[in-house]
Amino acid sequence: AQERYASLRELPAVGTCGTQIALHMNAGLMADLPSLPSSGAEGVGLFRTELQFLIRSQMPKRSELSALYSRVIGAAHGKRVAFRTLDIGSDKVLPYMKANDEPNPAMGWRAIRVGLDKPGILRMQLQALIRAANGGPLAVMFPFITLHSEFRAAKAELDKVLAREVKLGNPLPSKFEVGAMLETPSLAYAPAAFFKEVDFISVGGNDLKQFFYAADRENELVRRRYDTLNGSFLSFLKTVVERCNAAGTPVSFCGEDAGRPLEALVLSAIGFRSLSMRPASVGPVKHLLRQVDIVAAGQAVSAALDAGEQDIREMINAWLVEHH
Ligand code: PEP
Ligand code: MG
Repeated sequence: AQERYASLRELPAVGTCGTQIALHMNAGLMADLPSLPSSGAEGVGLFRTELQFLIRSQMPKRSELSALYSRVIGAAHGKRVAFRTLDIGSDKVLPYMKANDEPNPAMGWRAIRVGLDKPGILRMQLQALIRAANGGPLAVMFPFITLHSEFRAAKAELDKVLAREVKLGNPLPSKFEVGAMLETPSLAYAPAAFFKEVDFISVGGNDLKQFFYAADRENELVRRRYDTLNGSFLSFLKTVVERCNAAGTPVSFCGEDAGRPLEALVLSAIGFRSLSMRPASVGPVKHLLRQVDIVAAGQAVSAALDAGEQDIREMINAWLVEHH
């Protein structure tokens, strides 16, 4: 299937209207990096760091992590990699950390909540990332930020780490982007100051959708019940894009939906200019985007939303038949 899209590899995802969408890939293992050139992705929009912690029987050492992150950065050959700090808890429990018996782990002690309660682990990981960057550019994002105050607290931990590196005489990143993942509806309503303070926002569509619809992403009984391309969710996502645009803050979407061509088209139509997906999805998404007038699709989606239409999947399918 990858071969089918090989001719698109070097071409941008630009619609017939000239609107360009940056397509990035998700990764979580060193073994994923070879897909970066072959997929046609511009960079790694989400590097999940949990796996390195999950496959070990004890807490990895800072030097081991640093060596690994440095290999990841090297394998990206200058392309941007957005490292997400540890998102454990929920369904991913570390074998060497005391497991809490939580009734609702997805809404429990996970991700940045663990990071802020056990800042030693967060600081160790940040230090490993800074050392791996070795004076080059670095992009880091904190998972599951729910309030502005949590982002501030995470940044305060980062500031401590930076001060320590300066003291040790280690080089700081030449350009350091610090972002937040927007995965809970509450963060969409954070004060404008949050959107100005953050260097970039990455929408974690998988978690955001489960909390928007109150439908467990792991539960087969409800997981397919609510559509990403429903007017309610899309109106909400539009608000997120508008708030980021108003603050001049780059925003990207990195849930599984970004890798489905129709979903990717609608996300682009409502204003996302950056999507991150599994490597094999980059070709098919690019293939569709290059055939469509994204501005016109955006006008059609907006008109449908204004008219109160809910089934945007049906609407955009019909629109594509007519305008293709
Ligand atoms: C998400 O929630 O959409 C996301 C990208 O993170 P994960 O799937 O790892 O929870
Ligand atoms: Mg998530």
